[in-house]
Amino acid sequence: MQKTLLLIDGQWTAGGESVVLDVINPASGSGFGTVAVATPEDLDRAAGAADRAFVFWSRVSGYERGRLLKAAAALLAERLEAIAKVLTQEQGKPLVESRLEIGNAVNLIEFFAEEARRIYGREIPGRTEGVVQTVRKEPVGPVAAFTPWNFPVAQSTRKIAAALAAGCTLVLKGSEETPHSVGLLVGCFMDAGIPAGVVNLVFGDPAQISAFLVPDPRIRKISFTGSTPVGKLLAGMAGQHMKRGTFELGGHAPVLVFADADMTRAVERAGGAKYRNAGQVCISPTRFLVEEAAYEEFTNRFVEKARQVRVGNGLEEGTSMGPLANSRRVETMERLVADAVDHGAKLALGGERIGNSGYFFQPTVLTDVPLEAAAMNEEPFGPVALIRSFRDIDAALAEANRLDYGLAAYAYTSSAETARRLSNGIQTGMLSINHHGLGLPETPFGGVKDSGYGSEGGPEAVEAYLSTKFVTHATF
Ligand code: NAD
Repeated sequence: MQKTLLLIDGQWTAGGESVVLDVINPASGSGFGTVAVATPEDLDRAAGAADRAFVFWSRVSGYERGRLLKAAAALLAERLEAIAKVLTQEQGKPLVESRLEIGNAVNLIEFFAEEARRIYGREIPGRTEGVVQTVRKEPVGPVAAFTPWNFPVAQSTRKIAAALAAGCTLVLKGSEETPHSVGLLVGCFMDAGIPAGVVNLVFGDPAQISAFLVPDPRIRKISFTGSTPVGKLLAGMAGQHMKRGTFELGGHAPVLVFADADMTRAVERAGGAKYRNAGQVCISPTRFLVEEAAYEEFTNRFVEKARQVRVGNGLEEGTSMGPLANSRRVETMERLVADAVDHGAKLALGGERIGNSGYFFQPTVLTDVPLEAAAMNEEPFGPVALIRSFRDIDAALAEANRLDYGLAAYAYTSSAETARRLSNGIQTGMLSINHHGLGLPETPFGGVKDSGYGSEGGPEAVEAYLSTKFVTHATF
């Protein structure tokens, strides 16, 4: 059993009222510890600590910030196995995926540590002799960051490491459903010597916490990863108070499979990616759009691939898909499958809950899914693949762009011309052609349209925590 506390101004605390929430292991449905709940006074202290710490942290050299971040990365690498076990027990994903997530977080911290000393301004030549014009990049200020339960370690790392690299401090709200791995992650930053108040960690009532932190004048930037409806709510609040924002929201990724594609590669890569983290991934491949001539072959092979997924407790050797993270997801899968079948979709595989304890659901494939089915329009966020055919590239592009989402898109083709047209034509923040190649620390990560704005990868992720100051100086 785990017990996760709040971290405020360098002190782990049970919070003003010592109230806790239960954390559930989704493989059993029973308790896996508790997490402390922050009161408004705790939030006030956390924002105050981040504000005070900003005064000195923003003046620490980029080199030194990078050195401390690298120390945190080394500690996280050392503790990888222990944290992976905790992550699997609170989130459900197979141990192998937990290890990958934490390994990716180590990589992310290392990347942002290196970026910390590459935050440059520039000089713009003056029009008059003796005028010096400089563009300075300055950390934006204390940040309020909100992270979800699907990748609690990696999503929290993207925010903490990029903010700290830029010279910002933060109050992070981790997910109350997966708090232990986040607490252990934050422990690595503290043990590495990140000064008190630079990183603060809170949990509690999400709406109460955002209603407190977003308008707080000490907070200068909001970063949120989660659903589009909550993202829009927070973006609206941030706008009201003129706060900078990064919003990484939902997606409904199309996968365009052309008849000239290498089918083995398309089935292996897209099929493998679909059931990762039981489909609870914002960039999960979701709408499989297959050219008519290849539809039957792709569908049959995809179903066979999905049939091989081994569902079980994530701690058990050989499990390739764990339970869903919470009961809400199981209910949503049941609703979406029933609705799709009502609309005329064919259930080619799965479609049902497994057992009565824990939140297990069968890997599911629906084919010939009508556009009117709810699953074709709302983010399923679960182990459900939706397959439809298309006639030509124009029809494929029209369907890919039909929804308001625009986070990730995938395509399989051997034609350079098709790849060029897709690169130009798909409204998306990220496009991966002939492989599943998104999410590296050094590459941009973010969406367009209702999938949000801003980037959480590459140098753009650090830029998101910087403001631009222009100084012009006449020396005569
Ligand atoms: P939800 O919309 O209630 O919560 C999503 C996240 O937002 C959670 O971490 C929650 O703690 C937080 N949240 C909710 N209300 C908030 C508020 N007022 N202020 C601040 N934070 C708030 O839904 P859910 O049931 O947890 O997940 C459902 C949907 O969320 C999924 O179907 C998926 O679309 C989306 N989601 C997306 C991601 C992502 O990586 N983009 C991650 C998790 C969930």
